[in-house]
Amino acid sequence: MALADKILRLKREKRAVVLAHNYQRPEVQDIADYVGDSIELSRKAMEEKDAEIIVFAAVDFMAESAAILNPDKKVLLPSAGARCPMAQMLTVDEIKRWRTHYPLLPLVLYVNTLASAKAYCDVCCTSANAVEVVNALDAETVLFGPDHNLAEYVQEKTGKKVIPIPERGFCPTHLLFQPEDVQALKAQYPDAVVMVHPECAAEMRKIADFIGSTSQMCKYAKENAAKTFIVATEEGLLHRLKKENPEKRFLLAYEGAVCPNMKLNTLERIYTALKEERHIVTVPEPIASKARKALEKMFELKIEKRLKRDNHCFEEFHTSF
Ligand code: SF4
Repeated sequence: MALADKILRLKREKRAVVLAHNYQRPEVQDIADYVGDSIELSRKAMEEKDAEIIVFAAVDFMAESAAILNPDKKVLLPSAGARCPMAQMLTVDEIKRWRTHYPLLPLVLYVNTLASAKAYCDVCCTSANAVEVVNALDAETVLFGPDHNLAEYVQEKTGKKVIPIPERGFCPTHLLFQPEDVQALKAQYPDAVVMVHPECAAEMRKIADFIGSTSQMCKYAKENAAKTFIVATEEGLLHRLKKENPEKRFLLAYEGAVCPNMKLNTLERIYTALKEERHIVTVPEPIASKARKALEKMFELKIEKRLKRDNHCFEEFHTSF
């Protein structure tokens, strides 16, 4: 029996769902129940009331968020080594250092952080809602981590002062994109629309026709009449874009834009993790409940648009654990 079929059978037997991030290998996306960005997937996991196991084909911080939001389910990360380098760039000690300098500023953390860091922030955001979340805060200056490119983009869009912490946090994959590669493709395909992820550097954002998260790129590509798109994000997204828009052409802005951490989740590792129920992701208390509040606050801010700062969060920051 093919490995993919074995996984599908095991999934049924164990009442498991496989959630795959947009950057996963094509064969992993193809056996998944859902493919999406990290928060879409965590929300999907919450909707799967009958599921007992969630296989989260992604990287550490995403599986942690799924475990935090789904405490009654077993969350498995197929490859224990799948760690996001950007998430490792912001430690609790670093946060404490910045908080000492700016004790009254709200701290907004991109979901690409470890749970231990999330537990110290006021609210989380994704690349899809970062602008909305910062706009909704009743503060003209915010601390924002760990991606300095996303921080810069949010500052441009909101007009607020956004202080990046650490100063130069970055995604190594998105930094690979360079304007000259896009210009070379544009010379071949002059009508192509350029889509750029906000984790890319400012020079890339300047030449973009559209800046957005992976889920926003999927929506934009579907709704836009253009036939050719140049895409500046991790190469895995192209599989989904092509599948959803078979009549359109998608070109990766730089062929080497591969996140090696995302690619650690192979079919073999998914099969073994599910069969042996190994690499269970757990987040200890009280970190889990503090991080959950920051994630839930993000969902609230999205709905209510503008909310007064919750002083409770600031008090919590001073709680040691
Ligand atoms: S693409 Fe970048 S931000 Fe995403 S998991 Fe890989 S290193 Fe982390």
